Amino acid sequence: MAATTHDFDLAALRLAPGEGRRLELEVPIEPLELGSEVYAAEPPRVPVELTISRMTGGGYALRLRFSAAIGGPCMRCLKPAAPGVEVDAREVDRPGGGEELDSPYVSEETVDLAGWGRDAFALAVPAKILCREDCPGLCPVCAADLAAAGPDHHHDPEPDPRWAKLRELKLE
Ligand SMILES: [Zn+2]
Ligand SMILES: [Zn+2]
Repeated sequence: MAATTHDFDLAALRLAPGEGRRLELEVPIEPLELGSEVYAAEPPRVPVELTISRMTGGGYALRLRFSAAIGGPCMRCLKPAAPGVEVDAREVDRPGGGEELDSPYVSEETVDLAGWGRDAFALAVPAKILCREDCPGLCPVCAADLAAAGPDHHHDPEPDPRWAKLRELKLE
């Protein structure tokens, strides 16, 4: 079983300018809080592919790819959900290249893979985490699970209390 990698030392690869390397690593992805619920990467230690190329002008171009599920309560019906998330993120870090070329995840020649992985995962998760794409959710009147209750589930509209008062008046 591969060791998990929080931080990766780029200098240790001793790449010559123009040289590249592709690595298979395992990165721990911290749970995310969305709304007031906690959603966790599944598996929590995610196999990733890290591609590193040493640029000819100095610095590194990096690409991080992985897929994981995001597990937690369905945002419509609250049942367990775990839709898949595809992550494909790139960073460039070139010393002296200005803010745009200064990756926040690279300091000295060390990549904060856990931090980058978590942020890239958070950016890639769908806006609505659902148990299935067409989850009908809960009944707005009685909170029944509509997927189980079926399409016939409905409530007769409550009579408007003002009409009831009118009816009383007419009877007098
Ligand atoms: Zn659902
Ligand atoms: Zn109902």
